[in-house]
Amino acid sequence: MQISFRPYQLQLKYPFTISGFTRTATPILLLEIKYENYTGFGEASMVPYMGESVETATTFLSKVNLSAFSYPFKMDEIISYLDNISPGLPAIKAAIDIALHDLSGKISKQPCFQIYGSDTSKMPLTTYTLGIDEPEVMIGKVLDAISFGFKLLKIKLGSANDKLLINTVRSVTNLPLYVDANQGWKTKEEGLEMVNWLKEKGVVLVEQPMKKDDWEGNRYITKHSPLPIIADEAVQRLADVEKIAGVYHGINIKLMKSAGIYEAHLMIQKAREFDLKVLIGCMSETSIATLAAASLAPLCDYADLDGPFLTSNNPYQTPAFRDGKYVLSNEAGLGLNL
Ligand code: MG
Repeated sequence: MQISFRPYQLQLKYPFTISGFTRTATPILLLEIKYENYTGFGEASMVPYMGESVETATTFLSKVNLSAFSYPFKMDEIISYLDNISPGLPAIKAAIDIALHDLSGKISKQPCFQIYGSDTSKMPLTTYTLGIDEPEVMIGKVLDAISFGFKLLKIKLGSANDKLLINTVRSVTNLPLYVDANQGWKTKEEGLEMVNWLKEKGVVLVEQPMKKDDWEGNRYITKHSPLPIIADEAVQRLADVEKIAGVYHGINIKLMKSAGIYEAHLMIQKAREFDLKVLIGCMSETSIATLAAASLAPLCDYADLDGPFLTSNNPYQTPAFRDGKYVLSNEAGLGLNL
């Protein structure tokens, strides 16, 4: 198996601000794995706060030699092999995992969603995320989302203007809202009060209210919350899932945290054992990682897979999207249109 890759700057349509952080582009790495006559496509999205970069990815790839592996790919062995080369670095591992799933699908002539038994009729609505911005910009973003056909919005909170932002969005739409506080709320009392207020405003889910290491504060909010409280920053890979039970109602799985599709699927199964809800989310991503996550989305309760709609230079066709949901194709592999 031959790996090739190139760095790419994925430009955001709007400067993206979440609690305490703004950026205008995301470094990604586009990767291809060739196996016999087949090519699998993968992608690593390396948002700066996760600690990966083109440099760490390139160094990691220089140590990877997949020639010992052949089809059918044993993903458990391959992920162990990658973890043994270096701990961490889930995004570049995800790029390899995604490309291998695309290859597996192409070789076995089945779409990736079939590999894990996803029923496409159970595809959840996906949200369109609004970063923190000035009111008039927020309104423009809501109108964008509606024009794309989104039926659900996700608002980033965790700044001093939380109520203003929600009221601004509510001045132009009654669509149901998810809220992501990105660890921005300072006390559990303030957090719970905000959750109660948000419920009155038509919010239906809240992500990561307080700092990921404030287990007590997040547990308190979950215990008293009228809305599902979902862990994001507090959970990365499979081993983290069981710590979440009793502290949050569910987890946000992202392929760039889980090291790809294989482990994300194990995380979904583990979450179900603990009666946890599952949201499948994304970073700033092209159609490659979006299609990979969408292939698991029917196994999840909620989806936040808006990458291709928030970026301006996605090198691939935007995946088919209708009435607020992705429509998966029956093409073999990810179904990526070049
Ligand atoms: Mg989040």
